Amino acid sequence: MSLRPAPLLATLLLPLSIALTMPALADDDPAATTRALQPKAVEWRRDLHAHPELGNRETRTAQIVADHLRSLGLEPRTGIGPTGVTALLKGARPGPRIALRADMDALPVTEQTGLPFASTVTADYRGQPVGVMHACGHDMHVAILMGVAEALAGMRDELAGEVLFVFQPAEEGPPEPGEVFGARRMLDEGVFDGGMPDAILGLHVWAGLHTGQIGFRSGPTLASADEWSLTVTGRQTHGSRPWDGVDPITVGAQILLATQSMLARQVNIVNTPVVLTAGQFQSGVRFNIIPDDARLVGTLRTYDADVREDVIARFERIATDYAHAAGATATLDVVNNAPATINDPELARRVLPSLQAAVGEANVVEMPMQTIAEDFSQFANLVPGAYFFIGTTPEGQDPATMPINHSPHYAPDEAALEVGMRAMLRATLDLLEGEG
Ligand SMILES: [Zn+2]
Ligand SMILES: [Zn+2]
Repeated sequence: MSLRPAPLLATLLLPLSIALTMPALADDDPAATTRALQPKAVEWRRDLHAHPELGNRETRTAQIVADHLRSLGLEPRTGIGPTGVTALLKGARPGPRIALRADMDALPVTEQTGLPFASTVTADYRGQPVGVMHACGHDMHVAILMGVAEALAGMRDELAGEVLFVFQPAEEGPPEPGEVFGARRMLDEGVFDGGMPDAILGLHVWAGLHTGQIGFRSGPTLASADEWSLTVTGRQTHGSRPWDGVDPITVGAQILLATQSMLARQVNIVNTPVVLTAGQFQSGVRFNIIPDDARLVGTLRTYDADVREDVIARFERIATDYAHAAGATATLDVVNNAPATINDPELARRVLPSLQAAVGEANVVEMPMQTIAEDFSQFANLVPGAYFFIGTTPEGQDPATMPINHSPHYAPDEAALEVGMRAMLRATLDLLEGEG
């Protein structure tokens, strides 16, 4: 079986009039519907790609999404947290409520793809001028969900149940400190006030798989991401006479190394991996001055809430005790940016055959657990969630050597738009019909 979806060229050659007048198709052929939508999805995606917006600032994107939903006869709710957009599609018959989520934000990355629709947008990011790019492919996600919304709206007379489209800001995190991640904020602002969904689906484009492939797994899928910050306070003195003061740099280094020993010696990592990384270690101004304090900032990745609590408690104990041993003090602050993304086993059991039907059984691969994080988990902690990956590396190229998400060279294969629409549509229709 070919890894490729229907040839893109054939789809592009399809006369637009046929695509637009194609009747609402029965749910036994979602592939024909998504093939017809592909040229539009490419157009949406390229426009979004050329106009990326940082988290919580997706005003143009939100406007395009809302206008599209209105054109489908829906009544979008806008300005949720602060740029989020939702719309509820009601089918003709009663049935479950399924939420579909796409994230809309771009990254502070200066694009280097050389594509004709490459971004030239710049913005201010934490006081620095930066390029802005859809380097994580959220432009693809928005285009896919706009296409799925159009497909489902065209079938509404045959649908059982309801579909809530959720276009979310700031998945990558807010540009300024103190702002809140998009999913959390949408929940705080009542994204599900109209009624809790029975399930939520989300997807992500992924350079690690070929176009036409889907990566999926049941259970823990993406890590919980905590941002930690450790401040060690010593006492400043001359670098030649350390015994006159308390050296916070040495203590900070000892604490960091002790955390790595702790993970290797005290935590059972067989079932739930743990990663603890320092990304910043800042202290001092000059070679021969021992400074007053040192600050380390990093990330903690876990998959299990109990393991997370345990590791943080051990980290705190190490920090306090090592500092105490040296006559220093240490404080540890931990902020959770996203809980672990756990694919609900029962929902995963139901969604898997739909994904296999969409792309062929051989093209659905079991995704290994990833140490990246996603705030889709905020939704999936409230209602059963299923999150899958759509390959974006064209056949003939090696996924292992392709620029990955967040790279300034990340250029996903646009044929993946159709695959994403097809998979999301198939899974949604099957859930609405109670199949799977
Ligand atoms: Zn990302
Ligand atoms: Zn992303």
